[in-house]
Amino acid sequence: MTTITKVMNNKTAIVPVRGMMENVMEQFNKASNQINLNPDIRKILSITNNEIIIHFPVKMDDGSIEVFTGYRVQHNNALGPYKGGLRYHPTVDIDAARALAMWMTWKTSLAGLPYGGGKGGIQIDPTKYSKGELERITRRFTFALADNIGPEHDIPAPDVNTNSQTMAWIADTYMSTRPPAERSANQHIVTGKPAGSGGLEGRDRATGYGVYLTIKYWSTNNNQILKGKRFIVQGFGNVGYWAAHFLEKEGAKLVAVQDAFGSLQNPKGIDVEALFNYANNNKGSIVDFPEAAVLDKNDFFAVDCDICIPAALGNQITKETAPKIKAKLVAEGANGPTNVEGEQVLLQRGVTIIPDILCNSGGVIASYFEWLQNRNGELWHMEEVIDKLERKLKNSFDRVSEYAQKEGVDMRTAAYCLAIERIEQAYVQRGIFP
Ligand code: GLU
Repeated sequence: MTTITKVMNNKTAIVPVRGMMENVMEQFNKASNQINLNPDIRKILSITNNEIIIHFPVKMDDGSIEVFTGYRVQHNNALGPYKGGLRYHPTVDIDAARALAMWMTWKTSLAGLPYGGGKGGIQIDPTKYSKGELERITRRFTFALADNIGPEHDIPAPDVNTNSQTMAWIADTYMSTRPPAERSANQHIVTGKPAGSGGLEGRDRATGYGVYLTIKYWSTNNNQILKGKRFIVQGFGNVGYWAAHFLEKEGAKLVAVQDAFGSLQNPKGIDVEALFNYANNNKGSIVDFPEAAVLDKNDFFAVDCDICIPAALGNQITKETAPKIKAKLVAEGANGPTNVEGEQVLLQRGVTIIPDILCNSGGVIASYFEWLQNRNGELWHMEEVIDKLERKLKNSFDRVSEYAQKEGVDMRTAAYCLAIERIEQAYVQRGIFP
């Protein structure tokens, strides 16, 4: 249990908060009981394989030196190399990195990819640093990590506050540390690179597009159309923007949005492209967008809507916020946005949750395509990427829906059961060395 210090009535109290790790472990244990998971394999999957914590110095623009803390946690590689993003955020710590790495193991397994799970990042508020400083921080972290990652061993990707530029710096730094003749063969050290530097056409939109697709599949299965549906999005970064973009194209209406800086609402609908262009010219913030009203931060989840898309950080839908939610569908664009208590509230109220490891898996599926493209020296077209992504995601969605129905469990438990069974099978087939 992590603790935070809270000041109440001028008194300072240590208040226990549910850590992300507790959340993912409760989800894992629930599914493991459901499938009667082999107890030895439960032991293995309950703990991470490797945890790397690096303190590294970087020269700032003013000539001073700052020391940063970076993490890479490798949870499991029974199905293939560790795979998962790097996030730059003040909340990155060992608990978060462990939990996020575990979620990646389930996500890649469910998607049927030849990968395990890893995650990491730097405990940093990137808005406080210049582009030059961020480049040096990224390159120095990559250099320090270099012996622990590799294109066939552990393959990072973008996550919260990192993007294709960050990946280009990582690829360049990593490749520069290899002997000249091996450099090009290491391009798949990271995925999510810019399209001109070994990146995949469409990787930018893949996560948000996947979120939209899973919402569409759910609607179709429930005889609903997306046209006219009202949705709210928490987080207007890569995932939130692209999910909103595709939903709007289908005729759905964005009625409230929240980012790290503020919250907005407009029951008549917020123009997604106009908001995106506005934020791009406003240091990435949605604040003061003229065509919407300011909304109190605490009222965001209470906005009347049909679909709620948390696409920011973990632990947002809790026993405090879940009762406010009006939507009948929660589509988890973020990793771990709903904690176990929040989920209980929603399920009791008949709200469906499309779980993160399914809902946002379009990103890592596209990462897999990028990795294959680099490995095989190919260049794929956008249509090919989108077509393959749709087929993979539909297959995952159908398997989860069928399992949930057959076993009478919620979609998260179904997704976990399928993911864990695949890993269990690999262990049973291979046995444990020695
Ligand atoms: N950070 C993304 C996720 O949480 C993408 C990971 C990847 O592409 O490896 O799924």
